[in-house]
Amino acid sequence: MSYDNFETLAIRTQIDRSENLEHSVPLYLTSSFVFEDAEDMRASFAEEKERNLYSRFTNPNTSEFVQKICQMEGAESGYAFATGMGAVFSTFAALLNSGDHIVSCRSVFGSTHSLFTKFLPKWNIETSYFKVEEADKVESLIRPETRCLYVETPTNPGVDLLDLEALSALAKKHDLIFIVDNCFATPYLQQPIKFGADLVIHSATKLIDGQGRVLGGVTVGREDLIREIYLFARNTGPALSPFNAWVLSKSLETLAVRVDRHCDNALEAARFLEEHPRVRQVKYPFLKSHPGYEIARKQMKKGGSVVAFEIEGGIEAGRRFLNAIQMCSLSANLGDTRTIVTHPASTTHSKLSEEDRLEVGITDGLVRVSVGLEAAEDIIADLKQALETV
Ligand SMILES: *Cc1c(COP(=O)(O)O)cnc(C)c1O
Repeated sequence: MSYDNFETLAIRTQIDRSENLEHSVPLYLTSSFVFEDAEDMRASFAEEKERNLYSRFTNPNTSEFVQKICQMEGAESGYAFATGMGAVFSTFAALLNSGDHIVSCRSVFGSTHSLFTKFLPKWNIETSYFKVEEADKVESLIRPETRCLYVETPTNPGVDLLDLEALSALAKKHDLIFIVDNCFATPYLQQPIKFGADLVIHSATKLIDGQGRVLGGVTVGREDLIREIYLFARNTGPALSPFNAWVLSKSLETLAVRVDRHCDNALEAARFLEEHPRVRQVKYPFLKSHPGYEIARKQMKKGGSVVAFEIEGGIEAGRRFLNAIQMCSLSANLGDTRTIVTHPASTTHSKLSEEDRLEVGITDGLVRVSVGLEAAEDIIADLKQALETV
């Protein structure tokens, strides 16, 4: 049977059962696989048959994880990586040549930005940036040697939104590979391929695992591009481990119910913050006050798990707020069952100048909350008592 409903796909897409007829998919902790005879080995290495040879290439658990993500994203093919950054790096390294150029939104994950500014230039690959509010300037950044258009939406940590349909039209017009890091939305809330993306990347470490246990990443999309990425990855070794793939496949079975609750809690927290006198501005995609509200309604099912807000009183107030938090965790991760609070200006981005921070949308009072699965009432009570101290 084939299914269309997301929840069913997440649960019923699985690799074939072994002769033991296990109900839950077993863990294949094996680095290699055996061949029947010399001819089987020859044909397998010649890629005349589709089968597992060696777990750096494929493994039943990683294949199951990739198949599920492909079904959920509406993608032709994919490959799973040890981390989200493994997926981001391998995608660029496999597809780009020396002299190629990337156009990217400036608000991207910190390590992705370091890849663009510190490492890709070593291979003579340059990146030009546009700010979220200057999406109309993208076309002016495109050069004859531009190969890729790269974005995240919602962005980290500002929770800004970019219009996937408009950007993909631009990418098509200029024959660019349109790549979307869909980590904040998850395939449950947003499927960029529907809006014209060529490739979708996830850090599976975040909401896909959703319980703060394992690292993982995946790139899915157009078959011809994935083939290049696969050949690069099978020879350079960034593969996801079978154990992590097994954990992540299990996590996908509960993605829809978990993300639904994350979104409901986040919307409640956002509404509370919007009314609070010490809070200047709240950014949550499904609040009508969000500048990208119309875009959110078009391309997302719900608003996601992350709320950003601006606290009155700048850096010092942000620091006091973090110190007053009692239940929520101070941690760099996001998309966990546990609510996590960060204040980028005094922590993760404190080495940047104020001007550079503003470039990526980090104001002095910006607080990012990755809303977890505790009772909304308790999450809000903690935010409320901490706000009273600032
Ligand atoms: C965390 C994150 C990554 C990197 O993922 P890792 O699994 O930590 O390597 C990439 N993009 C976004 C948007 C992220 O939040």
